Amino acid sequence: MKGYNAGPPEKKMGIKGSQTTPITFDNVRVPKENMIGDDGRGFLVAMKTLDAGRLGLGAACMGAAKQLLEWSAVYAKERKQFDAPIASFEAIQFMLAEMATMVYAMESMVYRTAMDYDAGRSVSRQAASVKWYCSESLDRVADMAVQIHGGMGYSRELPIERYYRDSRINRIFEGTNEIQQMVIAREVLKKNGKV
Ligand SMILES: Cc1cc2nc3c(=O)[nH]c(=O)nc-3n(C[C@H](O)[C@H](O)[C@H](O)COP(=O)(O)OP(=O)(O)OC[C@H]3O[C@@H](n4cnc5c(N)ncnc54)[C@H](O)[C@@H]3O)c2cc1C
Repeated sequence: MKGYNAGPPEKKMGIKGSQTTPITFDNVRVPKENMIGDDGRGFLVAMKTLDAGRLGLGAACMGAAKQLLEWSAVYAKERKQFDAPIASFEAIQFMLAEMATMVYAMESMVYRTAMDYDAGRSVSRQAASVKWYCSESLDRVADMAVQIHGGMGYSRELPIERYYRDSRINRIFEGTNEIQQMVIAREVLKKNGKV
């Protein structure tokens, strides 16, 4: 398309399976039949996609956290130190308990918000909470998964370190987590806390 340009791929910390490039539009002409909204109202159309995007991001974080919890539980039972599986140490059990609780909270809010979204209800504030909580939780879960795997968690021999790197972007894209907090707080204040 004339005026549209894709720049070189970004060199990123993670999510290397997905290519990210800057794109520019210079006097691009959009054919009438390709318009997905009214002229000059594009921002509104773009904003409307955010609720589903944030909900989807939360679901993706939840899936990654569940996988990390499974790997961590299995590894903790296999790996022996001081003649005992590390799963028998309370320090490891507490991490698994925290991970499992965060997974449960993530699942609960993702499914509840998805049901409201499917029912056609407005979920802007809820989707912001999902995006914020699930991305923060996944970072914490990934960090504990690395810890439970010890040196192997840091090694490229296992996929744990990739999850640790890949997780980080979720707090930045689809609106940074600081912006999610602004969205949530705005509605909380508007409704005098009755959310
Ligand atoms: C891998 C990757 C993929 C991406 N994919 C896409 C894509 O597909 N489509 C797309 O449109 N964009 C995409 N982006 C862009 C992404 O959405 C932005 O990087 C993100 O929204 C943050 O914007 P920024 O980088 O300009 O940071 P900034 O806005 O400069 O933010 C820097 C810091 O300031 C804080 N901040 C900014 N404003 C405020 C405020 N008002 N109050 C409090 N704190 C504030 C932020 O929270 C952050 O901590 C992608 C980025 C990356 C890295």
